[in-house]
Amino acid sequence: MKRIDNKAELVKELNRLRENSKTIGFVPTMGALHEGHLSLIRYSNNQNDITVVSIFVNPTQFNDKKDYQRYPRIVEDDIKKLETVTCDFLFTPSEQEMYPENDTREFDFGNLDKVMEGEFRPGHFRGVALIVSKLFDIVNPTRAYFGEKDFQQLTIIKHLTKINGYSIEIVPCPILREADGLAMSSRNMLLTTEERKHVPLISQTLFKAKEKANNLSVAETKDWVVRSINTDPFMKVEYFEIVNDTNLESIKNWNDQKTCVGCIAVHVGNIRLIDNIRFNL
Ligand code: AMP
Repeated sequence: MKRIDNKAELVKELNRLRENSKTIGFVPTMGALHEGHLSLIRYSNNQNDITVVSIFVNPTQFNDKKDYQRYPRIVEDDIKKLETVTCDFLFTPSEQEMYPENDTREFDFGNLDKVMEGEFRPGHFRGVALIVSKLFDIVNPTRAYFGEKDFQQLTIIKHLTKINGYSIEIVPCPILREADGLAMSSRNMLLTTEERKHVPLISQTLFKAKEKANNLSVAETKDWVVRSINTDPFMKVEYFEIVNDTNLESIKNWNDQKTCVGCIAVHVGNIRLIDNIRFNL
């Protein structure tokens, strides 16, 4: 694995490989790597000649300054994990390297960035779109890998790829969970021991909601999920929406949509966790 901080150097290395017809898989991350990230890297290794991983805690996508400050930065540990899977290039740029000047670009995502994370984290998806555009311009991969854990982000990146005219295949990857069902996340390590004991309720409630959906309406299912999680004093649901998996519009009836996704954000102390589940009706 070669670690590179400089974008011009990475471009040069990758151009040389492209001239030799190598396919390039790209896995953008913010580090504090866990098995979820490693699963994306394994998908990339299986489908491409070369895999590039980036680690960059992107300041423009944090609407909460404290969340940005406490976000874990443990690149030496990450390198050890990357050495257990195949990763050809690790790109670890500085903020100056990615944002040498203020980037004023705006993006039109229609409804996609108005709801859920977009509603509660103003500016978040603009920051995501900025950094992903910059990284795509540098790496210019054949395929890029994104987790369904961040379902709305994945939907927006598919849209971004279209509007920016990139010929990059966006590969969605399933959510990896801990043994107790908790969706893996870099933020999980910030939970206290006590909070960690309570948070499996989030995914367990989502799993049960799938069964409940057989007998309850959409509105009743939503209510049941919010009430079930809010009964735990450690947790406060920010939103739970059941949306069409393409346009992210809230569904009113189960008949509206064959495949929809229930997306949730929950505050646990200072930490905010997200998760989602597919309702295949
Ligand atoms: P992050 O470092 O949180 O920005 O995540 C980098 C990539 O890993 C994103 O595409 C995430 O959706 C994906 N990812 C994060 N957690 C998981 C998980 N538990 N399972 C699968 N993919 C994940």
